[in-house]
Amino acid sequence: MTVRVRFAPSPTGELHVGNARTALFNWLFARQQGGEFVLRVEDTDVERSETRFEEQLIKDLQWLGLDWNEGPDVGGPYGPYRQSERAEAYQQYAQKLIAAGSAYYCFCSSQEIELERKAALTAGRQPRYSGKCSKLDPETAKARKEAGEPASVRLRIPNHPFRFEDLVHGLVEFTQEVIGDPILVRSSGLPAYNFAVVIDDALMRITHVIRGDDHISNTPRQLAVYGALAQLPRQTASEPDWNPPQFAHLSTILGPDHTRLSKRHGATSLGHFRAAGILPEALANYLALLGWAPSQGNREIFTLPELIQSFSLKEVSRNPAVFDMEKLRWLNRHYLKQSNPERILNLAIPILQQAGYIGESPDESALTWWREVLDLLLPSVGELSQLPAQAAVLFEYDAGASLQIPANNEVISDAAARQVVEAFAEKTLENSELSADRLREVLEQVKLATQQKGKNLFHPIRIALTGTASGPQLDRLIPLVEAGSRLELPKPIKSCRSRLMEFHKALRGI
Ligand code: GLU
Repeated sequence: MTVRVRFAPSPTGELHVGNARTALFNWLFARQQGGEFVLRVEDTDVERSETRFEEQLIKDLQWLGLDWNEGPDVGGPYGPYRQSERAEAYQQYAQKLIAAGSAYYCFCSSQEIELERKAALTAGRQPRYSGKCSKLDPETAKARKEAGEPASVRLRIPNHPFRFEDLVHGLVEFTQEVIGDPILVRSSGLPAYNFAVVIDDALMRITHVIRGDDHISNTPRQLAVYGALAQLPRQTASEPDWNPPQFAHLSTILGPDHTRLSKRHGATSLGHFRAAGILPEALANYLALLGWAPSQGNREIFTLPELIQSFSLKEVSRNPAVFDMEKLRWLNRHYLKQSNPERILNLAIPILQQAGYIGESPDESALTWWREVLDLLLPSVGELSQLPAQAAVLFEYDAGASLQIPANNEVISDAAARQVVEAFAEKTLENSELSADRLREVLEQVKLATQQKGKNLFHPIRIALTGTASGPQLDRLIPLVEAGSRLELPKPIKSCRSRLMEFHKALRGI
């Protein structure tokens, strides 16, 4: 039997990492099993569903590197793939279940249900529908419904416990006492999730349902729907057999404080990670490790094709996974290093434009300079959005401000350090520009003249030239400062000469 899995997002907001991981695990499983991956849009919540979210989530999934065999955008043999376009199927099966006596009309108002719920909670019981309308005479109920009385459709929950073998959690069991008769179709005519999901999974011949474990408590209700549908007389050979699929519920993703990952922990949407300059291959690699680890070895770097080879549902952990931004940055750094520099430049441009460091249409000389700057700065960033802070060493030189920093001030207040700076400035200003060679030469001369070496030599000079005692390799940075100062950039770069003069002035001020 061909494996068929689906990702069934509701287009009510941006795709976040939890759902993206669900999509990825489904995709990996399908690709590995030579199966099919279906994208189904669950847009029955008409008020909250929006086309723009559907469009965005398709783009986000594609960005992550996923593709699907069937879906609203590509069609397929079991379409339509939007629940809003499948009303007929839900109506048809709801009617069949009512006719068979497995489902009934419920006329209880939402106020009544709410009162029941509150009463149960006050009495310390788990709220569940009392089953009041299940006792109505079906003919009378049908007449009331036809006369226009608002009614939902509920399933009669059979009187037995529900158990299923979850591929991640093992045996899961629910007693019938905790499950009230679930709504299949709301009084508005819209199908409820637990009903639509079963009809669709069955009609679309889904063999494995891989989803978040927030749906584990819905599964017994869905099993009850399968059970009721299986008892219907089979009318055509093309109808499904209504055997439930296999279930795999993925563990919750937690934030660093071990509460469920949410917006409180910062932005978690794919759009956010993309804008921050996280590469899709890094995010996919990271998401795969959220709840999955190969049982053999402790390898952590996997490309998508490697994941298809190595991933196994059996190795998915039932324990919650903690989202670790540092680890994602670590992986991203790995992929940034491996990437084609032109690709990284293109991704970095909008980020640097936003910081005001690159203009609308940079010319070739500026781009050439940026290529070298990125080559120097990239090893110290975990996401491209950290680039502007790193590039500040080029653009934001301010001698006065740097001397306000206690750590700098402490270095410079030493007389020997000042001597180093003065000697360095004197030698540098003799010549027009500090090339890498000239820098080495001047450093050597200052070393001889002041008898200072190591950090006593380098720290004061670095502070004078860059404003901080640490940073990228000086003999690569300084030529870039000089070259940058000659370019037409939206924010001009101060040359070494003007930096040293500014520093000299600032020193006299303290
Ligand atoms: N639309 C549901 C959700 O986004 C799908 C749940 C399922 O996969 O069954 O949570």
